[in-house]
Amino acid sequence: METYDVAIVGAGMAGISAAIYLKRSSLSFTLIERNAPGGKLNVIHRIDNYPGTPSISGIELSLALQKQLSELGGKISYGNIVEAKKAEEGFILRFDNGKEIGCLAIIAASGSSEKKLGVPGEKELFGKGISYCATCDGAFFRNKPVLVYGYKDFAAEDALYLASLCSKVYFLYPQPIEATDAHLEQLKSLPNVELAEGRIERFEGEGHLERVVLSDKRIIEANGAFPLFEQQSGSSFLWPLGVKTNNGFLVTDSNMETNVKNVYACGDIVDKKLRQLVNAASEGALAAVGVIANLKKKKV
Ligand SMILES: Cc1cc2nc3c(=O)[nH]c(=O)nc-3n(C[C@H](O)[C@H](O)[C@H](O)COP(=O)(O)OP(=O)(O)OC[C@H]3O[C@@H](n4cnc5c(N)ncnc54)[C@H](O)[C@@H]3O)c2cc1C
Repeated sequence: METYDVAIVGAGMAGISAAIYLKRSSLSFTLIERNAPGGKLNVIHRIDNYPGTPSISGIELSLALQKQLSELGGKISYGNIVEAKKAEEGFILRFDNGKEIGCLAIIAASGSSEKKLGVPGEKELFGKGISYCATCDGAFFRNKPVLVYGYKDFAAEDALYLASLCSKVYFLYPQPIEATDAHLEQLKSLPNVELAEGRIERFEGEGHLERVVLSDKRIIEANGAFPLFEQQSGSSFLWPLGVKTNNGFLVTDSNMETNVKNVYACGDIVDKKLRQLVNAASEGALAAVGVIANLKKKKV
């Protein structure tokens, strides 16, 4: 079985940041990614709030991060981790193909994903008008009416992007909007954006989304719908270890360590108020520095 000092699960902003910091130590590590490196960066149309890069696309920032890591000699391994178990010393991580690796510490940087609404029509019309990624699928709805369902910044940002392509964007919010004033002002200033409060009851359409029915029976005619309501944490592979969570998100101390010794977390997987790139990067660094300190103590 391959063994490492540290296994980082997830190569988004948080995981790559942790890897960059680990590269400065003598510890061996593996950075495991099940999909495209960069994580959510790959679906962000434009980033305006990452310090030092006033306006950059998510893909550009993702490629810059990967280049920086590779120039330092860091590599990304591909695989999907499904379970973490306690070992005699450290932990064992199991991949979905049954392969296992050993490590003394885990840095969980596996982010979060969109929470499905679980309403009628959502499953059936997924990929037929319903999408959870405006950057990926927005162009399919050029000059058509679409609905964005959410109340946070990431929903507002996607609504702004869609407004540049689509004939009409209904921004439906199920609870008070938490998006920043700057985004709200922009949305309100656009002639093809309509903001309305309401909850989705079901999606309808013959082979393709045609309309969204709200719980008060209002009907919104839309060819596309982007439910960008909440995120769910990617922490389930750690649950067998008894990690403490809040709503699935990992509770950590100020060094990013969970209640399980040598299991750290960083980025969107962490239980916190702000899920942004700037703190994902900072938490990746903190987790790496914490692991380095802990494992060095153990080795001397
Ligand atoms: C549409 C949108 C727009 C946004 N705009 C901004 C913005 O303008 N500014 C800003 O600061 N933030 C923005 N954000 C938030 C920002 O993208 C996130 O806070 C940040 O990318 C989180 O990084 P992360 O590394 O924690 O998670 P992620 O980027 O989600 O990376 C996690 C990685 O882990 C991998 N993974 C998951 N589970 C496993 C597993 N079991 N095994 C192996 N790999 C696994 C995933 O494939 C993924 O690549 C936006 C988010 C969205 C969705």
